[in-house]
Amino acid sequence: MTYGVISGHSLDPVEKKPLYHFFPGHSILSVGSYGCNMRCNFCQNWHISQSGIGRFSADTDPDKLAMEACTSVNNAGIAFTYNEPVIWFEFVRDTALRVKKSGLFTVMVSNGFVNSDPLDEILGFIDAFNIDLKAFSESFYKRVTGAGLEPVKKSLKQIAKAGKHLEITTLIIPGKNDSVGEMEAESKWISEEMGDEIPLHLSRYFPMYKSNDPATPRETLNTLSDTARRYLKYVYIGNTAGDTGQDTACSKCGTIVTKRSGYDTRLINLDGRGKCDACGNPVYRYFTLPSHAGR
Ligand SMILES: [Zn+2]
Repeated sequence: MTYGVISGHSLDPVEKKPLYHFFPGHSILSVGSYGCNMRCNFCQNWHISQSGIGRFSADTDPDKLAMEACTSVNNAGIAFTYNEPVIWFEFVRDTALRVKKSGLFTVMVSNGFVNSDPLDEILGFIDAFNIDLKAFSESFYKRVTGAGLEPVKKSLKQIAKAGKHLEITTLIIPGKNDSVGEMEAESKWISEEMGDEIPLHLSRYFPMYKSNDPATPRETLNTLSDTARRYLKYVYIGNTAGDTGQDTACSKCGTIVTKRSGYDTRLINLDGRGKCDACGNPVYRYFTLPSHAGR
């Protein structure tokens, strides 16, 4: 029913996905449809995720999108986002394969609640993922999302093992998943299972949909990011008005290599291939688009 039906369509900064270590400073053509396989009562995108096909929907097709991806300036490729892409599987596959054929890259922003066989297929046409790890407790997943934690953990490991680019986002909700103990367990698990260079985004929650809890205090995000930094090298604070907690420091020598303010991204102290100028550490594996991209 949703093949080719889009709820949103925009040339976004790749930082907005959020992906901070995948072609930083580039744009990415972003599309999404309707519906979801979770029922989070705090959904920050509920207008499109928890509804049927909306009245602002438009039709498109894989060829049109691939063409647009190729002709958009400074564009790294296409991102499937806004709603849950795994329930839009056939359209995502058909479009991603066309975009990859032109040398551009593909991104999926997902809740990771997918069986391993279809995920295996997805790994064949998606280059980079931002996966929501909504909490680190089974009871939270059962109570609040209608899904489960274990399948999401399994997906994360499968993506990392396949060598795909992976960043993780946790939306911090006061009183629900904001304890230091839970963040410690989450970041330690990420580090031990997938490595300490996986970027983790701690995102600020705002009351939305059926959830009336107050917005997350800045102080909570600061505390939890300090906790996560004990296990992970790249921890970011997002969805806040402030400018702190968004810069990237080289994991080897601590030199600031990227300054971010809102969606303004300034790359500094880096060579042309994404390596730290001070120590040569390859901070960014995906940095400049290959010269044949987008043809
Ligand atoms: Zn360095």
